[in-house]
Amino acid sequence: MKRIPASLSPFQHALITWFHAEQRPLPWRKEYIPYQIWISEIMLQQTQMERVTLYFDRWLHQFPDIHSLAAGSEDTVLKCWEGLGYYSRARNILKCAQIIVNNHDGIIPNDQISLLALPGIGPYTAGAIASIGYNLPAPLVDANIGRLFARLFNIDIPLAQARKLLWRKAAELLPQDQARSFNQGLMELGALICTPKNPACPQCPLIAFCSAHRDGLIAERPIPQKGKAQLTIEMATGILTHPQGNGRLLIQQRLADDVWGGLWEFPGGRLKPEERPEEAVVREFFEETGFVVRVNEKITTTIHHYTRYKVILHCFYCSLDLHDAAEQPIPLLTAAQRYRWVPFTELADFAFPAGHRKLIEFMNRSSV
Ligand code: SF4
Repeated sequence: MKRIPASLSPFQHALITWFHAEQRPLPWRKEYIPYQIWISEIMLQQTQMERVTLYFDRWLHQFPDIHSLAAGSEDTVLKCWEGLGYYSRARNILKCAQIIVNNHDGIIPNDQISLLALPGIGPYTAGAIASIGYNLPAPLVDANIGRLFARLFNIDIPLAQARKLLWRKAAELLPQDQARSFNQGLMELGALICTPKNPACPQCPLIAFCSAHRDGLIAERPIPQKGKAQLTIEMATGILTHPQGNGRLLIQQRLADDVWGGLWEFPGGRLKPEERPEEAVVREFFEETGFVVRVNEKITTTIHHYTRYKVILHCFYCSLDLHDAAEQPIPLLTAAQRYRWVPFTELADFAFPAGHRKLIEFMNRSSV
């Protein structure tokens, strides 16, 4: 049982006592190694906890420390991240590791200024590394803490407009020498007890401090933000087999500054207004590779939901006729940095965005 200092306020004491008793046994909570805290926090952005714990173990197996990560290739890092989405996170992790090894002797900084200068690290992640990784008094606010504070302090404006207030509260409440337990306690309480719907108030250690509970306003806090409608994006892609046999398929690696930069894909792209998917594949192939392909057969349509949009991907088998049998099909890439002709069985070695991965899984099932 951890000793809790007597100097804590009743609020801090109640929260930290609860956290020590009820915290989930997460893999990065065993030793509190700053490298592990950083990786787990980046993974947890936009991704559910259960999924992150699976990826986290796999990640540590591949990249046990910052030196092994800094020495890794972007392809290996993206492959290890494949399926977690928001791939700029993985690219930034690699860049960060290289900067930390080159400029900080391989030690993750613990001060806010140095942390915020690193790619992909914002105020929340900087606060998490400093407070959870190093137990330094750095405040943090995530979505769980925002919701918890909206109820505790009866904040009557949408959270997006209450950012300064939330961070001020997080700093005011923070005990100087117990930041690790306190900040994690806030996050854990928001995740397990003060949930978006039906919070478990009778089990809440902070019930005596909660304004929304006292005033019967829990269902009205936080004040909802007017949501944006989910955007639907329709795309088409083609599986092109090498015209000289061997069953090899054309894949290309997206440009580095692209939303899915560094990932591999089958050529294709977004439909234009009034365009049919079959027409879009032919056009996209020509624009992206210079190849004039024929569409032979529909394979499937995959649908993938992201936070703010939905991607419908129409997938086709295509073929390419060469005038001269000895001619090599060399694409003139305009939307990619590299291409490969690879056997179907080797596609698993490359990292693909979700829609293309679903297509590969579909073809895999269909060929059984
Ligand atoms: S009492 Fe209920 S609403 Fe208030 S902080 Fe606790 S769980 Fe949230």
